[in-house]
Amino acid sequence: MIASVFGGLRRRPLTAFCVGLLTSVAAQAASAANCPGHPDAIGTSRTIVVDPRAHPIIGTMQYAKTLPLADREVVLTFDDGPLPKYSNEILDILAAHCAKATFFLVGRQASENPEGVRKVRDAGHTVATHTQNHPVGMDRLPLDRSKQEIEQGIASVTAALGDGTAPAPFLRIPGLRVNNGIEEFAASKGLQLWSADFPADDWRDVSANRVYELAMQRLERKGKGILLLHDIQPRTVAALPRILHELKVRGYRIVHVVPATPDRPATPTEPQQWLLHPPSEVVATSRWPKVPKFASAGPAALPVPALSDLDWHTTDLGVRAPRRGRGVPLPPAALWPRQTALPPAGTLAALPVPAASLFKLQESARLTMLASFARRAASTAQARSTEVSSAKLAGKSRRHDRAAAAQPSASAGPAAQLPQSAGETAPKPAAQAKRNGRSVRVAGLKKR
Ligand SMILES: [Zn+2]
Repeated sequence: MIASVFGGLRRRPLTAFCVGLLTSVAAQAASAANCPGHPDAIGTSRTIVVDPRAHPIIGTMQYAKTLPLADREVVLTFDDGPLPKYSNEILDILAAHCAKATFFLVGRQASENPEGVRKVRDAGHTVATHTQNHPVGMDRLPLDRSKQEIEQGIASVTAALGDGTAPAPFLRIPGLRVNNGIEEFAASKGLQLWSADFPADDWRDVSANRVYELAMQRLERKGKGILLLHDIQPRTVAALPRILHELKVRGYRIVHVVPATPDRPATPTEPQQWLLHPPSEVVATSRWPKVPKFASAGPAALPVPALSDLDWHTTDLGVRAPRRGRGVPLPPAALWPRQTALPPAGTLAALPVPAASLFKLQESARLTMLASFARRAASTAQARSTEVSSAKLAGKSRRHDRAAAAQPSASAGPAAQLPQSAGETAPKPAAQAKRNGRSVRVAGLKKR
């Protein structure tokens, strides 16, 4: 449908502007009005065009960045198909709602059911890939194997499409088990690596009602985002109509995502729109109120901070992120600036009390901080030696480290809900962090 719209633009350049306006207006009203025979359909409110090369990794379950969605916008994604028995039912349900989604197809499934791939395409959904054989634990495979899986998956889906077109350059790794090599390879191939913003655990042995509950609860918590589902699960088939109905009732809107092409430029966005919750002027984050001027008879120049001002062990919270965070932006400044000189005794009572909201961290900073905690938990032995040295520098650090180390296990919860197909074993976050040191992913999971 999009292609035909743009094809029309090419043929009638003089009317391009008017057509563009009509198209965007129509997109807003597309929801239920354009879903004949289905007055209660949620519809698809708009289509966004994304450039994988500009944004190679997305999804706040693992990364700081995600799709540039407005509040209450949801992107539906389905993994592991096509499997005719259930995938066809999912397609029927989506059709009844005129809701467009992105399908991450498994190459082997595509070869076995090429007609299923074409059905997804012909229904107007985005066809993406999910490796050839859906290997478990790709982060532990030799990189060459992973590359092969990715490329074969694309080749199989391309063959199944059968019209010379390729799938969208969107890739999701089974179980989200990525590593640096996979990320770099995907980026080098111009693939956009999709994580998700929230799963509904539909690959686990839970009821359809539980899938519905998790989808809605986790969405409400984030306010928008990419929902990860599986079109090969009967419980997903059972839960999807209720999810779509409830999304509409609660005022959510479905957004369809397609890749940019030479003929179809990316939807213009600002960098901060790719953060789940961009910094806001009305929410205090890392800003600090002006330090009141203290009456002082001291020198006009500010004192140079002493080395001891910098030795608190958590000052490395932002420093560790760049290597591990893969795009997690650093806080613009130290999060907890400390006073270098105390006011004279007796004036303390006059100081303003900072509001609790000032201590709210922005999304990226919190990820960074949690990542640091998880890393500490993962390398206990290392942490112990750090504790010893830290303790020499600051008496409080030992207690702090212990609290931080205890946190991941306390919040690991139900297997940390890593999205994997049935039969895969979800690793515990701490174990995973220990194995590969990729603590940002663990932090993202912890947030839910
Ligand atoms: Zn999968």
